[in-house]
Amino acid sequence: MQSIPTPPSAPSRRDLLTGLGLAAAAPLVLGVTAGPALRGRPAQQPVQVDQIAQYGQVGDPVQGDRTVLLRGASLVLTMDPAVGNGPLGAVENADVLMQNGTITAVGTALRAPRGARVVDASGKLAMPGFVDTHTHLWQAVIRGGCTDRDLFGWFEGCTDPQRGRLTPSAVHSFVRLAALDAVQSGVTTLVDWVDIFSYDLIESYVRALAGTGVRFTYAMFPPKPDGVLVTRVKKELVDPVPLGSFQVATHAARAVQDLNRAHWDIAQDMGVMLNSHVLERPEQRADDPIGVLTDIGALGPRLLINHAIHLTDAEIAAVAEHDVRAAHCPLSNMRLASGIMRLTEFGRRGVKVGLGLDGGTNDSSDFHALMKTAIGLQRARATDAGVFPQVHDVLRMATLGGAEALGIADRVGSLTPGKRADVVVVDPAALNFAPRFDWVGQVVFNGRPENVDAVFVDGRALKLGGRLVEVDTDRVVREAEAAAARLRAAGQAG
Ligand SMILES: [Zn+2]
Repeated sequence: MQSIPTPPSAPSRRDLLTGLGLAAAAPLVLGVTAGPALRGRPAQQPVQVDQIAQYGQVGDPVQGDRTVLLRGASLVLTMDPAVGNGPLGAVENADVLMQNGTITAVGTALRAPRGARVVDASGKLAMPGFVDTHTHLWQAVIRGGCTDRDLFGWFEGCTDPQRGRLTPSAVHSFVRLAALDAVQSGVTTLVDWVDIFSYDLIESYVRALAGTGVRFTYAMFPPKPDGVLVTRVKKELVDPVPLGSFQVATHAARAVQDLNRAHWDIAQDMGVMLNSHVLERPEQRADDPIGVLTDIGALGPRLLINHAIHLTDAEIAAVAEHDVRAAHCPLSNMRLASGIMRLTEFGRRGVKVGLGLDGGTNDSSDFHALMKTAIGLQRARATDAGVFPQVHDVLRMATLGGAEALGIADRVGSLTPGKRADVVVVDPAALNFAPRFDWVGQVVFNGRPENVDAVFVDGRALKLGGRLVEVDTDRVVREAEAAAARLRAAGQAG
């Protein structure tokens, strides 16, 4: 869900609305030889540890050198066919070894290195964490709002008024709340498209993200074409965060083509992706965003387009031909009556597409629902259960496919030895999930955030035993409630 940008020196929202016509597999780094029993590097100094850590030890995070052995997962979906079987690289009854934030081995009966934390995963599934390619975390402040509005009504009634009242502490409260919700739902990487323009608010935003331990990309809409603030934000706030990365955000439209060009130039100078909302509503055909992005020379693998619903056949072909990346946000698109992305056509042409929760218009961080909806919408459209995407397609899209779309598949997205250790453990022993019939299908069709038992980002445990580690959840909620109450009071006073 895009926010129409209202930067100080950019065209006004009204200008934008007028311009809108209505109202506004990357190469995998294997680095190891896969063997039948033990796939991955041999563990260093192997010893059996006698301590088996039990889930539920909240407040006892896996830290130190972050050596963790996930022991005996009943099914590991590595997403890497070179590591396991089939398109999802499945391995039965396997261990996953993480050392210093890196996956070093996936296989059976791995020996635990000295000092390793051994975590029993028997009866559970392990897989890569979800990659959320598009969100707006601050919009947690308007959860459940404007439910009878479309995109433009939602801006007017919900996002625009609330954005104008944000304070640094409110931003911190909402972003922290939403980021932790994403983490507890199994999201290990997220891309946040942000059109907030003052340095103190941005600082608070980035600090909240960094404090959660999630891997994140801050996609910043620059308020001015000169790139001064955006450079400062990247250098001072994002670059120092080990798991932080940066993109330049824009909203492609003829009315702001010069601004779009400036944003593309800044992105190129920085060597980062340009991240644009594109054709979320049919009325935005009048903006000709694909034409604008073509004219400024941005079509290519350094461009990420969000929603991408109302493209013509020729535009989808151009996107595919230039290896442009896309974020599909089906739950948001349904909520706002935006339309249905032609995901089947994108898949047929081999476009690298990830999934996006899209912040406030989603009202949840439920990636299982997102995957299920990505399948269901295409089936409903085609009245054909055989169309792309199938279950294995959405699982890949939610993990490795998202990483490919972001150009980070050499580091995350699959449980390939050598990649960063972003891992989730799903516990199927639940009323909504059991009994086992086809766990791959059940992850997509039955899974819920509460079935996500453990989450590791860069080898660090952020959730164990179904609970966030070292997080006072009640306090996070209380602070968000207090911040929301202050914003409501400010609105009533204003
Ligand atoms: Zn959006």
